[in-house]
Amino acid sequence: MHCSHEPSGEMVWEKTEFSAVKLHPVCANCGTLKNVSSSRGKKLGYFISVLSRLREYCKISEAQLRLIAKELESDEDFCDLWWISYERQRKIFINVVKKYVNVNTQVIESLL
Ligand SMILES: [Zn+2]
Repeated sequence: MHCSHEPSGEMVWEKTEFSAVKLHPVCANCGTLKNVSSSRGKKLGYFISVLSRLREYCKISEAQLRLIAKELESDEDFCDLWWISYERQRKIFINVVKKYVNVNTQVIESLL
């Protein structure tokens, strides 16, 4: 079930994805540590605007756009800004786009 995450007030020393040890807030409901690295997750709208810019480089139909947006939206990890980093979102985004559109990874990366 989706957790809306609330800080419990407890803080835990833990390594970030980039190996720096930092204090992390802990969710009171599910115990998930908050991402405190400098790579902060971005909202879905950011990635939708990347998609529209991507259309200048390759052909993406309205149907493909809807499928990509729907898949990103339904990915709980992707949308969970409590813990996900922008780095991870980038990887998920690239995978999902490449599933529906025949485009070079470098082209997508250049827009992110
Ligand atoms: Zn939670």
